[in-house]
Parts: sequence; structure tokens; C-alpha cells
Amino acid sequence: MFVYMDNAATTKTSSKAVKEMLPYFTEYYGNCSSLYEFGQIAKEKLEESRQIVADCLNANANEIYFTSGGSESDNQAILSVAYRAKKKGKNHIISTAFEHHAVLHTLKKLEKDGFEITLLPVYENGIVRVEDLKSAIKDTTALVTIMFANNEIGTIQPIKEIGAICRERGVVFHTDAVQAVGHLAIDVKEMNIDMLSLSAHKFHGPKGVGALFVKKGVLISPLIEGGAQEKGKRAGTENLAGIVGMAVALKDATENLPTYTKKVTELRDMLISGLSKIPHSKINGDLINRVPNNVNICFEGIEGESLLLMLDMEGICSSSGSACTSGSLDPSHVLLAIGLPHEVAHGSLRLSLSDENTVEEVEHVLKVVPEIVERLRKMSPVWDELIKGERVHVIQ
Ligand SMILES: *Cc1c(COP(=O)(O)O)cnc(C)c1O
Repeated sequence: MFVYMDNAATTKTSSKAVKEMLPYFTEYYGNCSSLYEFGQIAKEKLEESRQIVADCLNANANEIYFTSGGSESDNQAILSVAYRAKKKGKNHIISTAFEHHAVLHTLKKLEKDGFEITLLPVYENGIVRVEDLKSAIKDTTALVTIMFANNEIGTIQPIKEIGAICRERGVVFHTDAVQAVGHLAIDVKEMNIDMLSLSAHKFHGPKGVGALFVKKGVLISPLIEGGAQEKGKRAGTENLAGIVGMAVALKDATENLPTYTKKVTELRDMLISGLSKIPHSKINGDLINRVPNNVNICFEGIEGESLLLMLDMEGICSSSGSACTSGSLDPSHVLLAIGLPHEVAHGSLRLSLSDENTVEEVEHVLKVVPEIVERLRKMSPVWDELIKGERVHVIQ
């Protein structure tokens, strides 16, 4: 049985998206900037796709800029606001300790360049507190960037409240909503969002394409210089097929949101209740304010990497920490941010679902994981110390 439960890393491009993309490779391959009619057919489709993406967020079409994905959108949003604010003497940025590296590494770069960065704590439940934000904002604060939903533990942040505070204090608010778009209902107006990053491949669109929403009146600068595409804010010939695929996938996800949420939440909760029965295990992140497709659990006394490899041998694709950090020996910065000790953070497993997963697959996972955890614990020197009482349990 092949079981794909790593949808937070990437999703399968939907067959509907692939089908609608195809003609833009083979038939309507004109350049959107060409003035003859063949180019203008492409341009029309580009603008139609922009309108679809905007509608799904309750934004206006002229507030949507197409990019190469979530990382680029995050970089452009943060760097644009930071460097414009610096000219006005503002150099303070507020974020959280558990952002995606596309945000954290950008902030590191800005810190080296003289910016002051405040990372708010996210506590054991993986949720930022608005009181902390209120007291962190000062006269020099230019930007608040806080993710909508965390990519490792799935926790949802109080975005509307954060946005309201930022608006009141005159600070630009950006949210990395890559794990939220297509998975949760999003209304940029109602939620007081100034800038929002999204990525197609996290909601069954193609890889290498995304968008940045920028509220009218907020100014951005290009990361990539060149032609006048995207109103001069993002040079490079448009990836029209990719953009078409993204719009199709987003429209589909938005329309199917109630059905998707119901189905995936049921599967998630089956996994959570089944896996929680494993002794000395702990679900990470708030159980209620959580995206419907995320399960993240720690098992004491084992290495997440070994668990992942053994699940792979059983045909199950999962993740330990985030795909971006695997390969490094440091435990996930997200799990450390919610207060897990190093040795426990090493033993984590993330399963992220799509609505193509089935009850049979969940049952397979619930059969296989406990067996593997038991086998790994038998080989683990840490577990040996725990059962001999030479080490105390962190997870009861
Ligand atoms: C996947 C992801 C990104 C990066 O998106 P790409 O399109 O792969 O560059 C950024 N932020 C979060 C929260 C993500 O999950």
C-alpha cells in the first residue's frame, strides 16, 4: 500500500489543474507581453486567473502579484516593507520564533543589516498571544510578519486580531499563509491583512508558482529587475501555464472547502486518537486551533528520522520536523519554540493529509506506527535508561 501523508511538504497537482494547464504549453504559448492577438489571448487568460485568485481571498485583482512561490512572496513582502521603512527611520520588525525559514532567514539578513528583530514566543500550544504583540509594538516598528498556520504543527494564529492591532498602530501586517490558503476560509479584508503569501503546490496546484497579495496603498519593490511584468514589481516572462493551474486549484479548493474540511478532519482525528494511545507520546500544538490536515506527535525515546525511514519501507510518506530541515542534525526550531526538550523534539512525526487519503490508509498507519515505535524503542539506549529509571520521562 502506498500512502502519501506529506501534503504539508507538497501536494499532487490535481488532474483538473493539469488538464487546464496543458493548452497553455501547446496551443496558447504566446508571450503575455506581445501585442499581437496571439499574445493578447495569453494576457487575457493571465488576467482572468488573477481575478480568480483575488476572488478566493476577497481581494481586488490589482492587489495580486504572481511570483515563483511562497519563498519568493515572503522575501519580497518583508524586504520591500523593511527597506522603505528604513528610509523613514523605522527599523523594527516583529515576527514569531516558529516561522518558516523563508521568513526567518530573511529576518536574519535584515538583522545583519541593522534592523531590530523581535520574535514573539508561541507557547506550548503553538499560538502567539495578542497581548505580547501589543506590548512589542513601538514607534520604530515597521512590520509585523506572522504566519497564518504553522507548517509543522498546523496551529492557526489569531490573524484577524493581529491585523486589527497592526491597523490601529499603523504597522504593516504580512502573513505567510502558505499552509492556510486552500485549507481555511480566508478574507483579507475582514481579517485586516495588508500582505499575504501563498503557494500553489500546497493546495494541489503546480510547483514553482505562487502569489503575493498587497493591499492597495502598501508599496512594494521588485526583487527581480528586468521587464515591466506585474506592474514592474516582478520581472520575467509570466509562467502562464503555472498561473492557470494555480487559479484552477485554488478555485476548486475554495469551493470544496466544507466537504474537504469535514472529511480530512475526521481522518485527522482518527489518527490523533489512535496514535495518542502509544505510551509516552504527545500531540504537538493546539488541538482546536489547527488546520484540518495536520497531525504532529512526539514519541519519547526514538529518533524521528529512523521512524520516517521505517515508515517509508511500509510505503508511508511522512515527515519528521520539516522537509527543509531534515538532513540537519538540529531538531526542528518549531518544536523547540513550543518548549520541547531537544531529545523529545528529535522523536517527532508529522502526517499531513489530503482529501484523497482514505480510512483504509489511516487504519494501515495506525497498525504500522505502534509496531515501529515499539521496535525502535527496543533498540534505543535512551529508552533503555527510561525503563530502568536512570532517566526521567518527559512525556508521561
Ligand atoms: C512551503 C512553505 C513555504 C515555501 O513555499 P514554496 O512555494 O515552496 O517556496 C513558505 N512558508 C510555508 C509556511 C510553507 O509551508
